[in-house]
Amino acid sequence: MNEIILLKLGEIVLKGLNRKAFERKLLSNIAYRLKPFGEFKITCLQSTVYVEPKTDDIDMDEVFDACGKIFGVISMARAKGCEKDKDAIAALAIRYLKPQMEAAKSFKVESKRSDKSFPMTSIQLSQYVGGELQEAFPNTPVDVHDPDLTVHVEVRDLAAYVHADPVPGAGGMPVGSNGIAVTLLSGGIDSPVSTYMIARRGVRLIPVHFFSFPYTSEQAKEKVIELAELLTQYCGRMTIEIVPFTHIQEEIRDKCPEEYFTLIMRRFMMRIAEKIALYNGARGIVTGENLGQVASQTMEAMAVTRAVAALPVLQPLIGFDKEEIVRLARRIGTFNTSILPYEDCCTVFTPRHPRTKPKLADVEAVEKALEIDTLVQEAFDGIEHFPVGEH
Ligand code: ATP
Ligand code: MG
Repeated sequence: MNEIILLKLGEIVLKGLNRKAFERKLLSNIAYRLKPFGEFKITCLQSTVYVEPKTDDIDMDEVFDACGKIFGVISMARAKGCEKDKDAIAALAIRYLKPQMEAAKSFKVESKRSDKSFPMTSIQLSQYVGGELQEAFPNTPVDVHDPDLTVHVEVRDLAAYVHADPVPGAGGMPVGSNGIAVTLLSGGIDSPVSTYMIARRGVRLIPVHFFSFPYTSEQAKEKVIELAELLTQYCGRMTIEIVPFTHIQEEIRDKCPEEYFTLIMRRFMMRIAEKIALYNGARGIVTGENLGQVASQTMEAMAVTRAVAALPVLQPLIGFDKEEIVRLARRIGTFNTSILPYEDCCTVFTPRHPRTKPKLADVEAVEKALEIDTLVQEAFDGIEHFPVGEH
């Protein structure tokens, strides 16, 4: 019988979010993510999702890896099935869990029956399989209180399954169970991580990138699309919105005092992001800002930046140390792409002495030199859409 994967459901925190909707979302996300690997039967029973391959040519290492990136799964295990017979179960446990049994300092068996017609109780079955395992691995003692390894036996409708201790899943909530937000995706290290973190809270994301051709190159754009593509492993399919930003930056350069360049540029980013959000039914704006990291990330500067948007600005990295962000970026697999050396629009026309404690009234006064609404509309009309994660 084929190996299967068991995925345990994570938290369901919002009161309004009912379990059925949460499960449906999770099941459809799993089906979408596993589609490239082959055909599966995916069912949910008692807070556990059973992923059963329909053919035996499927690479289960890859599938298990992909499952580890699906939000809403708190823990997961690979399991193997056999007929519902105590000797078949014991023989399978001895064969399938040999490496784990040999490595463990102690073990116990835990059984669950969803098929109540099985002729033994859970306790009897655990004792029987435990006894057989003990005989096969005399160097691994039983410890029912604090075992190093727990051998799980599950007797289900069609078959029985055995597996070792589950490993942690991706956690969080299924993407799409908690609304939509736009996420400002630069080519840097931080914003892919902030995108990942908000996706983990069940939010579907629309990445937005501000692109200043020819000051930033075609490769810089390709890099951001590549980052979005990498993030689809966690976020599911997305459409990245590439906003032409050159005219706005040139206008700011020509008409505003240099010390305000970055701030005014960031206010334009917020206005356009909010327009994209409202157009798509999104309810928040995600950024990779981090307190004190650069001049535009002081509390004063962030207040001025977000003053133009009514939607909540979500900054999941606000209190992180750079090392923590880098560690996360490596773990989710975006770091190596983020450090490719292409320029970002923030590095075009960077002021030599940026204001770190700007006053809103001063910024609003210098912005009067610009046709704000026209510029925002022009950028919005020029957006290019790139779908990522299609299959
Ligand atoms: P990152 O590593 O994400 O680029 P950063 O530390 O370089 O962050 P800033 O350049 O000040 O910080 O940008 C702060 C945030 O603004 C970014 O995390 C990102 O969310 C957004 N942002 C910056 N530049 C762009 C851009 N060209 N397109 C879209 N969003 C951007
Ligand atoms: Mg940046």
